[in-house]
Amino acid sequence: MLHVDRIVDLRAACAEARAAGKRVGVVPTMGFLHEGHRSLMRAAVAATDFVVVTIFVNPLQFGAGEDLDRYPRDLAGDLAACEAEHVSAVFAPSVAEMYPRPSLTTVHVRDLTAGLCGEARPTHFDGVTTVVAKLFNIVGPCTAFFGRKDAQQLAVVTRMVDDLNMPVEVVGCPIVREPDGVAMSSRNAYLSDADRGAARVLSHSLRGAVDAIVAGERDGERIAALVRNTVAGEPRVELEYVEVRDAHELTSAVVLDGSVLIALAARVGSTRLIDNARVDIDGARVTADLGVGGGFPCNAR
Ligand code: AMP
Repeated sequence: MLHVDRIVDLRAACAEARAAGKRVGVVPTMGFLHEGHRSLMRAAVAATDFVVVTIFVNPLQFGAGEDLDRYPRDLAGDLAACEAEHVSAVFAPSVAEMYPRPSLTTVHVRDLTAGLCGEARPTHFDGVTTVVAKLFNIVGPCTAFFGRKDAQQLAVVTRMVDDLNMPVEVVGCPIVREPDGVAMSSRNAYLSDADRGAARVLSHSLRGAVDAIVAGERDGERIAALVRNTVAGEPRVELEYVEVRDAHELTSAVVLDGSVLIALAARVGSTRLIDNARVDIDGARVTADLGVGGGFPCNAR
């Protein structure tokens, strides 16, 4: 496995792979890799021939007062995980390598970034799209793998690629959950034992919402209220938002039909967590996707 921290070296490695007829896959991450990241690596290894994992805690996507300085890091562990997943190359650049001087250029996706997490984190998605655009320009034509855990990020990056004709195919992969249903996240490392237990209410509230839709509920506001009520029963968790949206356009879903995203963000202690469920409704037929793991037998109905 190649380990590079210079842009020129990654660009050359990807160009060489493509020249040899290989399909390039890329998995952008902020490191402290867990099973969710590893599922993206496995999808990339299965679908492409030269897989690059990028590890970069991108300062641009953290707001003032957020957790940039204490974000968990473990490069040695991350390299071992990438090696075990048969990744071809790891790109772990320094901040100075990615931003040798202040970037005067920002990639901004309108509308899709305005609500949901964009409300509390108004500069976050510009940071994400700017760094992902840089990575795509360095890697070149590729297939890029993102988790549906960050559903808004996936929608925003997909739209950026489409709007700007980037030579990239974006693939969304299922949310990977802990056995008790909590969505895996590098930020779970911040949680005390009590908060980690309390965090279960988030996935359980989504599960309740999905069950209600399967049982016939089609009112978006009533589904949101169901989630609010469930989360309110756990005093350690403060819901920031729950929204029921069209899964592609992220517009409000009032009467539920087609592809629906139920997305939430919450504070558990001082840690901000996000989670979501996707539901596809075709008349009385409902297909729910809460991800994998987590003992959610209602994934498909
Ligand atoms: P991060 O390191 O948190 O920036 O995440 C890097 C990539 O891994 C993003 O595409 C995330 O959506 C994805 N990811 C993070 N957690 C999970 C999870 N539990 N299941 C699936 N994908 C995930």
